[in-house]
Amino acid sequence: MIRQAAFPVEPWCLRETKLDLDMLAQTESVFALSNGHLGWRANLDEGEPHSLPGTYLNGVYALRPLPYAEAGYGFPESGQTVINVTNGKLLRLFVDDEPFDVRYGELRSHERVLDFRAGTLTRQAEWMSPAGQAVRISSVRAVSFTQRAIGAICYEVEPLDGPARIAVQSELLANEQLPTLSGDPRLAAVLDRPLNCEFHSGDEARVVLVHKTQGSDILVGAAMDHLIDAPDGVQVQVEARSYTDGGIVTATAALKPGQRLRIIKFVAYGWSQVRSLTAVRDQVWAALSAARQVGWDGLLADQRAYLDDFWASADVEVDGDTEVQQAVRFALFHVLQAGARGENRPIPAKGLTGPGYDGHAFWDTEAFVLPVLTLTAPDAAASALRWRHGTLPAAIERAAQLGFKGAAFPWRTIAGQECSGYWPAGTAAFHINADIANAVIRYIDATGDEDFARGPGMDLLTQTARLWRSLGHHDPQGRFHIDGVTGPDEYSAIADDNIYTNLMAQRNLVGAADLAKRHPKRARELGIDAEESASWRDAAAGMSIPYDEVIGVHPQADQFTRHQVWDFAHTSPDQYPLLLHFPYFDLYRKQVVKQADLVLAMHLCGDSFTAEQKARNFDYYEPLTVRDSSLSACTQAVMAAEVGHLDLAFDYLGEAALMDLRDLEHNTRDGVHIASLAGAWVALVSGFGGLRHSDGTVSFAPRLPEGLTRLAFTIRIRGRRLRVEVTHETAQYLLAEGDPLEILHHGTTAKLSAGKPLSHAIPAIPSRPRPSQPPGREPVHRRADEDPT
Ligand code: BGC
Repeated sequence: MIRQAAFPVEPWCLRETKLDLDMLAQTESVFALSNGHLGWRANLDEGEPHSLPGTYLNGVYALRPLPYAEAGYGFPESGQTVINVTNGKLLRLFVDDEPFDVRYGELRSHERVLDFRAGTLTRQAEWMSPAGQAVRISSVRAVSFTQRAIGAICYEVEPLDGPARIAVQSELLANEQLPTLSGDPRLAAVLDRPLNCEFHSGDEARVVLVHKTQGSDILVGAAMDHLIDAPDGVQVQVEARSYTDGGIVTATAALKPGQRLRIIKFVAYGWSQVRSLTAVRDQVWAALSAARQVGWDGLLADQRAYLDDFWASADVEVDGDTEVQQAVRFALFHVLQAGARGENRPIPAKGLTGPGYDGHAFWDTEAFVLPVLTLTAPDAAASALRWRHGTLPAAIERAAQLGFKGAAFPWRTIAGQECSGYWPAGTAAFHINADIANAVIRYIDATGDEDFARGPGMDLLTQTARLWRSLGHHDPQGRFHIDGVTGPDEYSAIADDNIYTNLMAQRNLVGAADLAKRHPKRARELGIDAEESASWRDAAAGMSIPYDEVIGVHPQADQFTRHQVWDFAHTSPDQYPLLLHFPYFDLYRKQVVKQADLVLAMHLCGDSFTAEQKARNFDYYEPLTVRDSSLSACTQAVMAAEVGHLDLAFDYLGEAALMDLRDLEHNTRDGVHIASLAGAWVALVSGFGGLRHSDGTVSFAPRLPEGLTRLAFTIRIRGRRLRVEVTHETAQYLLAEGDPLEILHHGTTAKLSAGKPLSHAIPAIPSRPRPSQPPGREPVHRRADEDPT
């Protein structure tokens, strides 16, 4: 039986009241700190014991060969893999020569708190050494949102019962030894010694190191400086030294009970593939000076101010389910951490909280994470899209290699090159190109950012539209088909006319033609003539959307509903996820769905289906969908809510929101699931709030499940802040500022003016019989709070 950590339910923080070493792997991920540039797993200050030490810099990777038993044309030859860079979190403590190690002596108390408003991880512990010397330790850790190169720790230690000689060794450590991992393909490749030393120096209380990454030749600079403080009369001896793989600053003092040694550690990181060693070294020095100038208190004050601003336009309030309340704030905090200061770098599937999936970014970013950031932290969304734009040359090259026009973005990558060695699920999952285009369209629709539209936006839409036009073909009747692709459901592959892909490509083609019309000069520069944009519109108009007339549902791809249904009755619970127990060959030829595919099409392209089709399709796919991916529950929540299965939607909300807090897929140790966390917001806001936005329309169709008594959320839309508050009876809309805004409430137009709330009644929806799921794959039934008042 797999054990799980249990966290007390609190609205604004995540607390662990007792250290459980069996849970270290999960807690290192959920308590991780990041700003989108730098990520620190929540390893204990003293470094050991650990499950997986982790310090990540967004965009820093090593190259590893991708050997194939049987090679083929177009297979990527090497893969990028995230590396554990120089660890700057280490603060080793010695009490009268004995190392503080929670496995020895007696740990009398231990508490860690991740504070979503302060942006800190705090730790308090009382420990008695094997020799009987008791100490109190406290540390506060932050990865700065305002100074993105900086992580900082305030570490305090005091003896409790008698005088003690205390030594604190603050370290920077490169090429840390990492545990060996199992053969699960979702894990990262562990590289032995990925960093080669190029420079090291240490003096006074400072150390600087510069290393170069294996294969990728990236220079990584790390530096640390300290402010050391002890009560008057206490002498502290400080010395620094450095060596090829590290640096140590040691502070030693003899303390009496009640006297505290305090060490503030600033750590700065910088990296570059083009700048020189001296430039990178000086960059980290400069970052350290800037952090020292603001000081520890200043850094924390800036951190809080940054988060206050975020929460003012992003918070979601949930009444009736305090656990979901905590979970959605935890989720938003991690989504922000993943993207806040990436600055034209990717948002990996695990953010910077762990090495899972080799640190790669997938379609997860554009399809799940960016819809949330677009409406809560639009600058972060723009920055992630700019990263994609920066990888356009590689995508154009890849399309040419594959024999297509335009750009073919990689299924998984860090720097833009395809890193998927399994082509049926990688290369063939062309929908990622439409996912990127759709994120661009949604970003422009929500922000009105015409500079972005004219620049990177138009480049991305044009090149992806060109891809679709060359990938698909018109049949003699004029219908446009996109054959041989893999949709979101990875338990089917190389199928014709995957509806999700086709509908998203349709949007991509129309979006590109519309933008070319809006910006004719730019269109000419991009070589788009009337004929080309007409060909995009023709392809979109003729897009083939298969329909199974016999059973009256949409097959997720042509012929899908003709396939044999998977033998769920003879699949035992321990055979999930199916991909680890059955050959893809068998999964591909049966009706079994890994994750929402047609159901996702109904969410993102809702106006392509009638209400009746949505209800029938939803009920058809439920018994086939096994949710072997964390990217499914949130979409099922949204569509369950739309078609009237409100309680089922509530169950799926619980699954999306608690994916990491309950470690539902037993792999949170490799990092948190950023897309599923974003999905908690999506399930609440697009599910129970019914929010959709496209083509200048913002619409809501709110409806709460039994378990919730109130839902309130704020979004940023077209330069304004809009707050929506929903109960079972009414929805209230309040525009905080800006010009009036027209919205739709359950199809009725409402004109909002700043500061004037408007309330609308919520129409009832007839309840329908709850559909079933594959045996053993039902979502856990969610029980609301005992007493919601
Ligand atoms: C899912 C993909 C997803 C990837 C990374 C896989 O299990 O099937 O859709 O992109 O995980 O999260």
